[in-house]
Amino acid sequence: MERGTASFQPAGLSHQTCNLPDASPLPEEPGNPRGPARGAASFARERLFVFLLDGARADTIRDLMDAGELRTLRTLVRGGGTHTEAVTCFPSTTGPAYLPILSGRFPGHLNLPGIRWLDRGAYEVRRWSLDRVRSYVGLESFLMNRDLAPGTITLFDHFPGSANIFSPVSSRNGGPREPTPVRKAALFTYAHYTEHWEAVDGVARLRYSRAVQRGAPFIFGAFLALDELSHHIAPDHERVLRVYRSFDRWLGRLCDRLADRGELDRSAIVVVSDHGMTPVERHFELTTFCEQQGLRTFAYPRVYRHWRDAECAVMVSGNAMANLYLRRKDGWGAAQSYDEIEAAHGRLVERLCARPEVDFVAARDGGGGVIVRSRDGAARIQTSGRSIRHTPLGGDPLGLGACVHRDAETSLRRTWTGRYPDVLVQLLQVFASQRTGDLVVSAGEGSDLRYRYEHPEHRASHGSFQRAHMIVPLLTNLRLRPGPVRTADVCPTLLSAAGRPIPAGLDGRSRLEGQAS
Ligand SMILES: [Zn+2]
Repeated sequence: MERGTASFQPAGLSHQTCNLPDASPLPEEPGNPRGPARGAASFARERLFVFLLDGARADTIRDLMDAGELRTLRTLVRGGGTHTEAVTCFPSTTGPAYLPILSGRFPGHLNLPGIRWLDRGAYEVRRWSLDRVRSYVGLESFLMNRDLAPGTITLFDHFPGSANIFSPVSSRNGGPREPTPVRKAALFTYAHYTEHWEAVDGVARLRYSRAVQRGAPFIFGAFLALDELSHHIAPDHERVLRVYRSFDRWLGRLCDRLADRGELDRSAIVVVSDHGMTPVERHFELTTFCEQQGLRTFAYPRVYRHWRDAECAVMVSGNAMANLYLRRKDGWGAAQSYDEIEAAHGRLVERLCARPEVDFVAARDGGGGVIVRSRDGAARIQTSGRSIRHTPLGGDPLGLGACVHRDAETSLRRTWTGRYPDVLVQLLQVFASQRTGDLVVSAGEGSDLRYRYEHPEHRASHGSFQRAHMIVPLLTNLRLRPGPVRTADVCPTLLSAAGRPIPAGLDGRSRLEGQAS
């Protein structure tokens, strides 16, 4: 087994084509997979495996690995693999944040701007339509494929015969789905009331192993226990840490089986998360706030409230992000710009920004860009061709100063180490969706935006632009080029590893070393 000499860099922003410190040889044991052979990356990978550890924190994985734990992941990146951190998309929430990994495109470009949303056109004219509002928390998750923008292509479309374990979204064309909706609903109901989310991961592992056994060319498995247990207990609770360790041991056994089949070296393996999670100390019920401003407001689960005369809708994701919709005088049909909101609703945005639980608020700029506002002032984001301009308008809520980024890749590099990684590109993409709110609210550290109907109480959140929500772990047996990476890069990177052409128009790019992006 090849041994490396470099070491992990400290917390934060390290991209590392990883060779682990290796003072003591790892014995061959169950849960310790055989490493890939030298030169294994030189041929196309015939099988692609994605393990989506929903809600896994990058720093937790790094800390456990630095402490000598997670031996499978350490072995995975040894001898040619990569351990890095990636920036996810906005909103950093389950479901929409799977899309960049599966399709290489941001959720705003696929018209899925949150785990809950309102469709203005449908709300205005189709009173009995199923498409007026949506919450993917619960049975409506089975509509997620149907809600994708026409023409959406995912890895499931590229590799027929693939397996989808527990992801609510797979392909616009339907795509594979395991377990069946009835079994999934029964299992989730059991886990919801017993808090035994480890059982759901157990079923995911069983089905993933079977899909490996039957030779599925691409397998995407969502492992949900980390997310659920973190929400209800705490992201750093010992029970949550046991889920990381247990996953690692199971992955080791799976890799051993792949090695026995002679397939490990010809497989691309990616372990990634869709968002981080942070503890919540304060719940800010945004719906109540809007009602207190005199707006007739509805939100899930009471979406039929103010059936005939609603003025405002609050759709929370994660629970640290919200799409907030405001009815125009002439109806719901069209979105409002920042200036129109200011003219129609007086001090609404100012009062929202004054709340300590709100980090910042964003809205469409009449000129086609985005306006960001917080207690620290306002800023304008505009595009011209491929370039992105950020202009402070009194204060600097994003802390970027006046700047012009040549393109999205430059913007990623310039914002990678900052408080809000990739914030300009991510704000622009989310407002590309016609289902995005008139206002987008990003919660501050320690806060979320929903309480009244959240049972059990959420003790951790995600969804916002907070760095700890946006930065996720990315580990793979592929060698990636050094530099910042997005989760949207996973799809084209896997296509590249498999020797497939990369479709035009993706938001991500292949980061595979030695290949053009
Ligand atoms: Zn998630």
